[in-house]
Amino acid sequence: MEVLEGLKTRVYRFGNKTADGNSKMKNLLGGKGANLAEMSAIGIPVPPGFTITTEVCTEYNELGREAVIEFIKEEVEQSIANIESQMGTTFGDKENPLLISVRSGARVSMPGMMDTVLNLGMNDEVVLGLVKRTNNEQFAWDSYRRFIQMYGGVVLGMKPESKDDIDPFEEIMEHLKHKRGIELDTDFTIQDLQDLVYDFKDAVKKRTGQDFPTNPWDQLWGAIMAVFNSWNGDRAVYYRNMNGYPADWGTAVNVQAMVYGNMGTNSGTGVCFTRDAGTGENVFNGEYLINAQGEDVVAGVRTPQQITKLGSQRWAELAKIEEADRLENYPSLEELMPSIFNELNEYQDILEKHYRDMQDMEFTIQDGKLWILQTRNGKRTGAATVKIAMDLLKEGMINEKEALLLIEPNKLDELLHPIFDTNALKRSNIIAQGLPASPGAATGKIVFFADEAHKYKHSILVRIETSPEDLEGMNIAKGILTARGGMTSHAAVVARGMGKCCISGAGALNINYKKRTLTVGDHEFHDGDWISLNGSTGNIIEGKVATMEPELSGEFAELMELAVKYGKIKVRTNADTPKDAKVARGFGAQGIGLTRTEHMFFEVDRIKAMREMILANTIKGRKHALEDLLPMQRADFEGIFEAMQGQSVTIRLLDPPLHEFVPHQLATQKELAEDMHISLQAVKNKVAELEEFNPMLGHRGCRLGNTYPEITEMQTRAIIEAALNLKERGIICKPEIMIPLVGTVREFEVQDEIVRRTANTIFEERNDKIEYLVGTMIEVPRAALIADLIAEKADFFSFGTNDLTQMTYGYSRDDAGKFLPIYIKKGILKVDPFEVIDQEGVGQLIKLGTQRGRATKPNLKVGICGEHGGEPSSIEFCYNTGMDYVSCSPYRVPIARLVSAQAAIKTTM
Ligand code: ADP
Ligand code: MG
Ligand code: MG
Repeated sequence: MEVLEGLKTRVYRFGNKTADGNSKMKNLLGGKGANLAEMSAIGIPVPPGFTITTEVCTEYNELGREAVIEFIKEEVEQSIANIESQMGTTFGDKENPLLISVRSGARVSMPGMMDTVLNLGMNDEVVLGLVKRTNNEQFAWDSYRRFIQMYGGVVLGMKPESKDDIDPFEEIMEHLKHKRGIELDTDFTIQDLQDLVYDFKDAVKKRTGQDFPTNPWDQLWGAIMAVFNSWNGDRAVYYRNMNGYPADWGTAVNVQAMVYGNMGTNSGTGVCFTRDAGTGENVFNGEYLINAQGEDVVAGVRTPQQITKLGSQRWAELAKIEEADRLENYPSLEELMPSIFNELNEYQDILEKHYRDMQDMEFTIQDGKLWILQTRNGKRTGAATVKIAMDLLKEGMINEKEALLLIEPNKLDELLHPIFDTNALKRSNIIAQGLPASPGAATGKIVFFADEAHKYKHSILVRIETSPEDLEGMNIAKGILTARGGMTSHAAVVARGMGKCCISGAGALNINYKKRTLTVGDHEFHDGDWISLNGSTGNIIEGKVATMEPELSGEFAELMELAVKYGKIKVRTNADTPKDAKVARGFGAQGIGLTRTEHMFFEVDRIKAMREMILANTIKGRKHALEDLLPMQRADFEGIFEAMQGQSVTIRLLDPPLHEFVPHQLATQKELAEDMHISLQAVKNKVAELEEFNPMLGHRGCRLGNTYPEITEMQTRAIIEAALNLKERGIICKPEIMIPLVGTVREFEVQDEIVRRTANTIFEERNDKIEYLVGTMIEVPRAALIADLIAEKADFFSFGTNDLTQMTYGYSRDDAGKFLPIYIKKGILKVDPFEVIDQEGVGQLIKLGTQRGRATKPNLKVGICGEHGGEPSSIEFCYNTGMDYVSCSPYRVPIARLVSAQAAIKTTM
């Protein structure tokens, strides 16, 4: 074991047109490291460096710092020497120093969620060496102060102490700027920068009690461990949980020679996209800053400039800047540095063709030389996701199957949500305009702090700028509005990734955190006031604006056609009303997998009849109340059958415990007593009688139908009569009647007999008949185990995975909220099994149930109707299990159809 451990490669080098790794090694090298290697190998100019693998991060988490240093010390030292020889500089040298960056990078991109340190290797002597080498004192000291700032924040924990505090280093800088009467970081003099370096070090000493480390190797190991630690930092953990990324992936560490964008006016740094990440439009775009480094563009401190002339002109129009002013003060890179722009344009083209997907790149210009620092498949909105995939298909860059696989199914979700009503928009009052950073419609109440986003049901987070600490609040808010920052600012990038509406860089806004006010001209808005954001135009609108259903045409319709072409497992919907059924059919649902009948009883006029039924003490009394319910329920079914126009509809007989229908508050109990002409005490007695210790395991499901057969009779009558009525109108439907919560064969048989007897009676009465099926839900583990016996009687199975999960784990669905979140946080469970099918345990029951059922009845129709039916990995599992269909809520239907196609394509690869 020891020997093997020693032999494992833990460090992979790249640079100078070669590399040990490649883009396929994302799990080991992280996305950033794998792509740095790939770029280097295909001849893109990448500063040389090396990647410490994600496995080492896991080793660090298990064995700690010293063990890891022992594992990799030699490889790291040799790899630094390799960078030194390529760059012709020496790490820690007083004459000609090498500075490096230490960058995080997990297998998936987690922008800003983990840490990076730039300009590492600096100290009081090295800075003088850098001055000597570059003849640029300003630059050398700027790099030094940046280093202390970043290292202090990332490695030494120099962070703001509370939410009203600003960053301790920013505070020192603001203080100096104020004293000197300057505004920008670039206005600092050499003397200022030197003062800052000493003040920063002083602040570190005061707060941590330690001197700032001067030895470059100590700095390096400190930064490597800090990057590993950042994998378990709050931000990263939250982001991982939000996206379901497991803790054991770990992050890689990329160590790389620094290139300097802050060397003067012939240097700069920027971010660019090969296509528009918001709309998907095929235009190269991005932002840059002259004389800047690293995160300056993203941090939104200075207003970044556009890369292309077209982009610059579009930006100026939104910002209401005259052409002459634009050209003079905000020229594009295309205009300012045409040859660098041409080179960058060439690389973006090469990289998009190479990766066959939209790329998001980082670059730095050091004294007139262009370096590429990162490329990745760019995050994009749902609309852009669809457009880019369909465009790449039309351009011949990818084929149909690849286009389908390129789309992350959950991204479609955004496209299915409401947009602003065009008529309401015409009447609205636009108070200001910002950059359309992430499209969509958002309306809500203003909050000024991320940790207050949960205060209102619909909140809009309004910030001067956002930072990675704000992630959780950004996720909760309906929309994000910032006064500063461009299209690649933190707010913009994160919002697009979340599919959340965002307007950034709205310069007209005046935000006061202390007073909690947002002022625009003479308008003042307060915490709790309503505003609306149109993320597609950048318009900020006063008050609440009405929304409407989106129209799904164009590329989306094309995508759905493709999905149908390749999809194998059918997609049905869960719908309880004709309205839901119609929506789902519009999205292409191929039938209804679950109609819950209890919801039909909750409406005002019906709940009364339902309560009378429950309170009746005799069969006669119950039948009488059920007769009142019959016509209402029959009309519901007619509406649903009509909406589905002859497609299969599965109807589940009454499922929930009766106590859910009786009033628990004194006032309503009194009302009911009066209505029914019985005593309040009688009502109270009944309520008490219905109370259960474990309602989830109590008197519900077919246990109701088996104790009150008249309920099953009434429901069967409503279903069969509705189908016969439709037949008279020329619509043939074949209802599938589903018995819930069956655990023994006899439980099913008794219900089956009632249904069939009732149906036959109606056929005789009407002298007409229809075809129908009687099947069962498999949701009690025992039912899965005896599926072969149940299948002798049942016409179909539908896996009720909510209950099946509840009963297999023994987690009450009603109480799991108390411990599941903690289980997930602690890693005891990787994901919530009520959201994602637990393939290991619950999945076995599903497989077994399907196999045993089909052993008895080879053509047994099998589907799923739990919440899982709309979740991508669960749908794939259902397909691989051989189910005929999945069923999900109407708005998930397009997503499920896409997954259906993807699952089928994957099995042929
Ligand atoms: P993130 O994953 O949060 O984007 P990065 O590791 O990419 O963090 O680095 C943060 C910023 O620093 C980026 O703008 C990146 O381009 C810049 N940067 C990283 N390494 C270097 C380097 N060696 N030289 C110059 N800039 C660098
Ligand atoms: Mg980056
Ligand atoms: Mg159930």
